[in-house]
Amino acid sequence: MSPEPPLRLRIDEAALVHNWRVLDRWSGAARAGAAVKADGYGLGARRVVHALAGAGCEDFFVAHWAEADPLLDLVDPATISVLHGPLTADDAAYAKAHGLRPVINSVQQAQLWLNVGGGLCDLMVDTGINRLGVPMAELNSAVIAALTVDVLMSHLASADEAVPLNGLQVERWKAARGLVPHRRASLANSAGIILGADYHGDLTRPGIALYGGVPCAALSNEIRQVAFPEAAILQVRALRAGDGVGYNATFVADRPLRVGVVSLGYADGYLRCWSDKGIVLAGKARLPVLGRVSMDMIVVDLSAAPQLGEGDWVTADYALPEASARTGLSQYELLTLLGRRFVR
Ligand SMILES: *Cc1c(COP(=O)(O)O)cnc(C)c1O
Repeated sequence: MSPEPPLRLRIDEAALVHNWRVLDRWSGAARAGAAVKADGYGLGARRVVHALAGAGCEDFFVAHWAEADPLLDLVDPATISVLHGPLTADDAAYAKAHGLRPVINSVQQAQLWLNVGGGLCDLMVDTGINRLGVPMAELNSAVIAALTVDVLMSHLASADEAVPLNGLQVERWKAARGLVPHRRASLANSAGIILGADYHGDLTRPGIALYGGVPCAALSNEIRQVAFPEAAILQVRALRAGDGVGYNATFVADRPLRVGVVSLGYADGYLRCWSDKGIVLAGKARLPVLGRVSMDMIVVDLSAAPQLGEGDWVTADYALPEASARTGLSQYELLTLLGRRFVR
């Protein structure tokens, strides 16, 4: 075993569970599931699923078949729904063999699923996002009618905006519910939950807000930050007035400065857009990032925390709504790009 790396992603599990409960409450009579695709939005799907299953969550959504694999021993595979559905006969056979719930997105996928014997599946209906899903006009096909549908779902294109498309999608989703027999209906992602009871059905599918993202103002006081990127100070240096920092010396000290070289860089997902802009936290002290973000390092001003030295840890200021506003990256990107070198 090699020594522990100098960066870790601290996960506040209590905040994660709190956020799920908030979204479950906002879901009214519907139950909240959890979107855990892309390794739980980068936080570690096993950890997320374990915590949320413990809190009572009973429906988990991944995108790829390979994302279901690490979860098979944690929860009943029948509670794992695979959003991309079967692309090949092998995918369908895998779903069947493990008892996973494929999301059927087209007549072709329905046929693949029926070819391996069918069984309980979910059905994605396209009501206007024009991404994955069976078009409304194909819902009356005999192949779709042969499915045994648990969750009849659709996905909102603009849940985080007040636009007429939301109402249109609800109406189409309701029409689809009248056309295809199913056990449960689902429409809302995180932001969709806040649009109200019309959008709830039996099951909601929050993702980003579970992990500390705030997709709409109504949630800003309720959602807690979950993911905290932390990294160690590798070296402390004394700068003189006129010294530049990092590639291309985009920061030049105008006075003597004590700075720390921190083990966090763009290879870890702390992208160059944080150059001369990021902040790391040490207790109450806010330490600005000086100069360019390198692949493996940033340099921070230690003036506000003179007690810090080599081997001490700092936390990147990574509250998602503010980090998104500062960088122009979406809250989703900020989480999912965090790299493999973090200990999770
Ligand atoms: C990712 C995803 C979700 C979760 O969306 P958030 O905006 O993260 O809450 C729900 N449903 C589907 C189909 C998704 O792909």
